[in-house]
Amino acid sequence: MSAIESVLKESRVFQPNEDFVNNANISSDAYNALCNKANEDYEGFWADAARENLTWKKPFTQVLDESNAPFYKWFADGELNASYNCIDRHLIDKADKTAIIYEKDDGQSEHITYQQLHDRVCQFANALKSLGVTKGDRVVIYMPMTAEAVVAMQACARIGAIHSVVFGGFSSGAVRDRVKDAEAKIIITANESVRGGKFTPLKSTVDEALSHRDCTSIEKVIVLKRTDSDTPWDDSRDLWWHDITQGQSSQCEPEWMNAEDPLFILYTSGSTGKPKGVQHSTGGYLLGGVLSMRWVFDYKSNDVFWCTADVGWITGHTFICYAPLAVGATQIVFEGVPTYPDASRFWQMIEKHKVTTFYTAPTAIRSLIKLGPDLPGKFDLSSLRLLGSVGEPINPEAWMWYYETVGQSRCPIVDTWWQTETGAHMIAPIPGAFSIKPGSCTLPLPGIMTDIVDESGASVEQGKGGSLVIKRPFPSLLRTIWRDDERFTATYFPDEFGGKTYLAGDSAHRDAQGYIWIMGRIDDVLNVSGHRLGTMEIESALVANPLVAEAAVVGKPHDLKGEAVVAFVVLKGDRPEGEEAKKMAAELKSWVAHEIGKIAQPDDIRFGENLPKTRSGKIMRRLLRTLAKGETVTQDISTLENPQVMEQLSESI
Ligand code: ATP
Ligand code: MG
Repeated sequence: MSAIESVLKESRVFQPNEDFVNNANISSDAYNALCNKANEDYEGFWADAARENLTWKKPFTQVLDESNAPFYKWFADGELNASYNCIDRHLIDKADKTAIIYEKDDGQSEHITYQQLHDRVCQFANALKSLGVTKGDRVVIYMPMTAEAVVAMQACARIGAIHSVVFGGFSSGAVRDRVKDAEAKIIITANESVRGGKFTPLKSTVDEALSHRDCTSIEKVIVLKRTDSDTPWDDSRDLWWHDITQGQSSQCEPEWMNAEDPLFILYTSGSTGKPKGVQHSTGGYLLGGVLSMRWVFDYKSNDVFWCTADVGWITGHTFICYAPLAVGATQIVFEGVPTYPDASRFWQMIEKHKVTTFYTAPTAIRSLIKLGPDLPGKFDLSSLRLLGSVGEPINPEAWMWYYETVGQSRCPIVDTWWQTETGAHMIAPIPGAFSIKPGSCTLPLPGIMTDIVDESGASVEQGKGGSLVIKRPFPSLLRTIWRDDERFTATYFPDEFGGKTYLAGDSAHRDAQGYIWIMGRIDDVLNVSGHRLGTMEIESALVANPLVAEAAVVGKPHDLKGEAVVAFVVLKGDRPEGEEAKKMAAELKSWVAHEIGKIAQPDDIRFGENLPKTRSGKIMRRLLRTLAKGETVTQDISTLENPQVMEQLSESI
């Protein structure tokens, strides 16, 4: 089989400004020193990091235990508590510092100090204890993006209960599956969520999920009263959040956990199939998050940090619930959506709260370009000093807009490659040490031993694409798939690569400077006339056309070529039809041929008002593959955000 080819011709390079470099946490020398240390003394490197960045109740003496590979253990005889590390340890000098700026959908905001957060978490933790929740019990959290969602997660961590957060936009079926898989005892929800001015009943979705005969593990349902509307109620089972917390003590001794005790279970977003119940540890996971804050987000004590993800995803776990709190940051928790009351909400909030560090996803960036490319210019964004991107490869043209229009060519962009499974950043710029290139997540962080390999597991040459792997275990890696060790080893540590190399599932290549470029999922690689092409690069060429807002590329079987390229395109303007669509399709075909060459030219182009996306905003290429073949969709589309666009995209031009 031939190697995966890179067709992207991106060559722009940006240096961080002098001011940023002078004040950066990690200089280029410091970065080199960290990498050297990790290379020379891998365990010593991680042990130092864990001692410096976390507060241990009982210090560890063991570092890495590889005796039962790939079920690795880290700091296994140490004891700590995640909630203590996120809250209590800051009370000495930061009790009155704002921990959370909670901005509600309607624009009202509330500041919560570390002391107040502590008190709320303890009261809620005591309430959970009073219901009989103990260490190791599973608690499902199905809540809107509220400060209380963070309180609920932190309270679980405080008493050693394992939370499993289910994104508040999921249906009752998704809730039921996750409750059953985790055998959860308690579910925490709200009567309704409020997003973009719309009210969605969450409690009745929970009722529906629990009405199934085979969903019997839940003993109590705790309900946050987010709105005043009537709520269906079962007296024997349902409890109001405010009732059970009332009168509870604001002191709650943390449960001291073993570093390896599970902190939470989280299901992956399901872009490629059935979600996996990723299980994270307490010590290693927390360490990864703190290092990401210090190294990649260059965290400073006066930062106002804003990660726009939902707590239902790993990004919201690590960069809302845990890491910003673990370093004592002030951060924003935002209930609403980027397009309400209009498409300037993000920019307006950056101005209002003087956000310094802004972290969002390519899908949000692309849709905001489509809805209002000039809107950022209408706001004072001078507080910003660093921008981040996560979730998908960011197309170079979207990157350029983010850099110039949002960051005013002043703020470095950290394009962070990581996964639910890795818990924290793996490949990402250290912004004061690296030059950056649009579309590249740059270099692995110190201590992260990545490689790009072919099917035999051998490193590929520079410029050739291959499978992205991590060759050494690292602390924040998932420990297993919840109660499915077999799927864990088969998915991530397959025998083909020797059983000890972590297989990420993404394809990538390295440029002459060693920078890594993610080309898409390994499963998405196209094989056109013997050339194996990554999808991301063809998509980026399409997005570089001034008329195109978003594009997704998949293959369909072709008699001569093996596979032909099919492109699904969203224009910045209206969806074209009839003759206009034909003309537009022809224009885009020659655009791609001109930009990257004839081999990547789509045979078939289809237009939609949007693309099918998962609830976390990722393009669902597996559905598009089915549409490209002209087959009917039989896959699980329960995580699909906008099913109506499927019809538009099934029309060939
Ligand atoms: P599933 O595993 O169920 O298919 P998922 O992989 O979408 O879902 P996540 O763990 O949320 O679930 O996403 C991780 C994936 O997102 C990575 O494997 C990669 O494909 C993509 N990704 C995340 N960040 C980046 C980035 N900065 N650049 C390129 N791709 C990224
Ligand atoms: Mg994945």
